[in-house]
Amino acid sequence: MKHIDIAEIFKNSSLINTTVTVCGWIRTARDSKNMAFLEINDGTSLKHLQVVIDKASEINVANLKSGCSVKVEGILVPAAVNTGSVEINATQITLLGDCPGDYPLQKKKSTLEFLRTLPELRLRTNTFNAVFRVRSVVSSAIHNFFQSRNFVYINTPLITGSDCEGAGEMFRVTTNGYDHPYHSEEEYYANDFFGKKAGLSVSGQLEGEVAAMAMGKIYTFGPTFRAENSNTPRHLAEFWHVEPEVAFAELPDVIELAEDMVKYIVNTVFEKCPTELDFFERFFEKGLKEKLKNVAESKFEVLEYTRAIEILKSADVDFKYPVEWGCDLQTEHERYITEQVFKKPVFVTNYPKAIKSFYMKQNADGKTVAATDLLVPGVGEIIGGSEREANMDKLLKAMEDKGMSIDAYQDYLALRKYGTAPHGGFGLGLERIVMYITGMSNIRDVILYPRTVGNLR
Ligand code: ATP
Ligand code: MN
Repeated sequence: MKHIDIAEIFKNSSLINTTVTVCGWIRTARDSKNMAFLEINDGTSLKHLQVVIDKASEINVANLKSGCSVKVEGILVPAAVNTGSVEINATQITLLGDCPGDYPLQKKKSTLEFLRTLPELRLRTNTFNAVFRVRSVVSSAIHNFFQSRNFVYINTPLITGSDCEGAGEMFRVTTNGYDHPYHSEEEYYANDFFGKKAGLSVSGQLEGEVAAMAMGKIYTFGPTFRAENSNTPRHLAEFWHVEPEVAFAELPDVIELAEDMVKYIVNTVFEKCPTELDFFERFFEKGLKEKLKNVAESKFEVLEYTRAIEILKSADVDFKYPVEWGCDLQTEHERYITEQVFKKPVFVTNYPKAIKSFYMKQNADGKTVAATDLLVPGVGEIIGGSEREANMDKLLKAMEDKGMSIDAYQDYLALRKYGTAPHGGFGLGLERIVMYITGMSNIRDVILYPRTVGNLR
């Protein structure tokens, strides 16, 4: 169907005073004595296009209701009210799809909770229109950032036989039916599709390391699955995960890469989505643009875990979870540090080894590992990363300490046997950074179909 995007209509001033054809869904329809007005939107732009209809014309305005899809032909003119914008004086309107009166989006303002019950329609609202354009620009910025730095884009497997981080969080993959005849777990898996226990990957890191130890600098960007059995505003069972992995890199290099990436993403959104940022500033987070400008311009804080614990212990706050050296930081602690103390993104580094994964590089103090989490105001953790343990003996010892099966990790261990090298990387949750940039406070509102415990629509 030949037509012009509404985004293009607003951008291209040479279209003024020419005949144009646009398509879209009617957001509002207004009627006065001699004229009728439609606001239409085709999804390419947050701003709607006004269509002006002379009621003396052939056009049947009675059929044009909110939710209908239409094709409009007319002359593009400067807006009658002097806004610097444009509108269409319609010469012909074709009703492409009617929309009955029970259209759920007719109310002027629907809550986000209500809209979550309408995943099939909510993208037609301004809020979701803006969220998903920003999400797309963030994704593209991530690729551009890594591609421009000679990183190779790698697709790691989604079905895995090993379990990178927590067994409890892994979804099982099986073709065995409910009514299986097996008598033991062993027998069950031996007769399953792969002949062994399989699951959906909770991280592409282990395979990412395989690629990095040959290609030097790689990144993955794909879905990750975690059976998070908790209902929080920042956890999904299926999320999009960006995982760079770099050979010949130590923890400070990992931190620098993460900081550069976040700044690059923020700058790109400033450049490509100014209207959307204005929208989020106005309706979702006062001070959003100032916050993001600060992110782009200031140096992120780097804070030792041990120091973070001292700060938390001396804080004049009643935390639900008490703080002691050795404990994992809870969201309330993370948010206190980044929101109250530093008021900007903070890398917490060198966590106790007991609370972190087996593959993290063990520091000389014998107590901590070279890990880092990036905490940001409003969300908490958006990035988790580390330098990896490159020493075979230390790695084996850590796996033994954690009671892991060495057998399942032969590929991973081989990287330490054949030309081992310092290397590291991190994981960024795409939805977490989209939340941070848009000011949306629930992760369910930044992904098309959120998968959470007990919820699969
Ligand atoms: P959290 O402490 O928030 O549960 P984590 O420490 O389990 O996160 P990592 O294993 O370090 O997370 O994963 C790297 C990144 O992936 C996190 O920093 C976060 O941005 C994102 N992430 C992790 N789990 C989820 C999830 N369930 N839903 C959405 N994003 C997630
Ligand atoms: Mn983490």
